Amino acid sequence: MTVVVDKTKCIGCGACVMECSLEALDLIDGLAVADVKKCKELGSCLKVCPTNALSLLNRPEQRQENLAPDAGSKYNFKDTLPDSVQDYAQGNEKKTIRAQVTPVTGGDGWSGVWVIIEYNNGKVAPVAWELLGEGRKLADAIGCGLCGVVTGYQVDAVIPEAFAYGAEKVYVIDHPVLKDYRTEPYAEAITSLVRKYRPEIILMGATSMGRDVFPAVATKMRTGLTADCTVLGIDPETKLLQQTRPAFGGNIMATILCRTSRPQMSTVRPRVMEMPERVEGRTGDVIREEFGFNESDFRTKVLEFIPSDAKSAFLDKAEIIVAVGLGIGAKRNMVLAEELADVLGATLAGSRGAVEAGWLTHDQQVGQSGITVRPKVYISIGISGAIQHLVGMETSDFIIAINNDPEASILKVANYGIVGDLFQIVPALTAEFKKRLQHGVAN
Ligand SMILES: Cc1cc2nc3c(=O)[nH]c(=O)nc-3n(C[C@H](O)[C@H](O)[C@H](O)COP(=O)(O)OP(=O)(O)OC[C@H]3O[C@@H](n4cnc5c(N)ncnc54)[C@H](O)[C@@H]3O)c2cc1C
Repeated sequence: MTVVVDKTKCIGCGACVMECSLEALDLIDGLAVADVKKCKELGSCLKVCPTNALSLLNRPEQRQENLAPDAGSKYNFKDTLPDSVQDYAQGNEKKTIRAQVTPVTGGDGWSGVWVIIEYNNGKVAPVAWELLGEGRKLADAIGCGLCGVVTGYQVDAVIPEAFAYGAEKVYVIDHPVLKDYRTEPYAEAITSLVRKYRPEIILMGATSMGRDVFPAVATKMRTGLTADCTVLGIDPETKLLQQTRPAFGGNIMATILCRTSRPQMSTVRPRVMEMPERVEGRTGDVIREEFGFNESDFRTKVLEFIPSDAKSAFLDKAEIIVAVGLGIGAKRNMVLAEELADVLGATLAGSRGAVEAGWLTHDQQVGQSGITVRPKVYISIGISGAIQHLVGMETSDFIIAINNDPEASILKVANYGIVGDLFQIVPALTAEFKKRLQHGVAN
């Protein structure tokens, strides 16, 4: 007796593996696989499977029949398990088992790269344009189309912009219910388009809205989602999306594949990808879809929109940033960084260390759990350059790092590294910039 896994339904969540007290289930290459020798058909795994991918095969003689090619039964192992897994099912020695022998790619009806264009309160989140630039590279690598998706109310002004930033086609759902952002209606709108047009990749900004709606869409589609990617690429052989992001507290960079379900979904923070060139006058196809819902279908209502006055709203647009780390030693020394920032017209920011010390507020924190910035000039003062900090600033155009440790990681990403005592270097820089700016010398 054994449990049979339907590989077309298994999402590799591991719930069955955790549940099985006999250790008869294992996750192999992202799919559950049952060990016929250990399984006693307790059935508890069936109860926890969220996708009903498991069923019981309870006649041993039938199992033997089904292992033969073309057994023609309801429980056809040939359909249910990949060839290499049949060895395992028959009790042969455990070999390298590739549960997903042929990864799902665009060839089976899922095709195209989509970018969800966030449009709220009359404004587009610029990360959407950055993602159209990135989406172009992915679409070219796969050999498929690049499309924009706009859901909202009175969104027509966005369509020519989407073409200007590289979309070949724009899908639109324009409906009064979508006037203000809410999870439920937006998730319904995006999912309805995805179900109908089956894109193989969807990208969205890791903004408040992207972080909220994308998991809801992924759950409805029963697919994977990789949040906060810092690098995206296409595997040249399988054409799968390679989604790279910091993992295990930022100590490693993990490249994640979504091999067994579609679409492949990623979010990327603002400013991580480069802004593409805007080409005025580019056009393409506009596909308008109906939205079959009313206000009464949703449980939430927006009463009022109050814009945020958080400093982070400015930080990610700042052109010059002076960033402070624990090396500055005490709050009273912050004046050194403030004077430098004043002279340069720069925005003050810092590391998590400086925020935790209470010298800066959280919306001034740069990095993995803070803001991603991409200024023209980033001046780092007494910051070591932990990976969690670097992922938030290393794409700055020009980095100047001041640190008294020649081995500090920040110096490896800096265009100019100044090794020495910040208490001498920062006042000297401030005085020199002041002098030059007073004399009207720009550089
Ligand atoms: C899940 C997770 C998320 C995180 N997210 C973030 C994040 O978003 N942003 C972030 O910044 N960190 C983040 N961190 C923390 C990160 O790992 C580091 O601990 C933090 O960045 C260290 O801050 P720091 O560089 O200011 O301090 P330190 O690492 O202590 O570095 C201080 C530096 O100052 C230098 N220095 C000391 N005295 C002087 C002097 N007189 N002159 C010149 N240089 C001097 C030292 O050589 C040292 O390099 C995160 C950590 C985790 C686990």
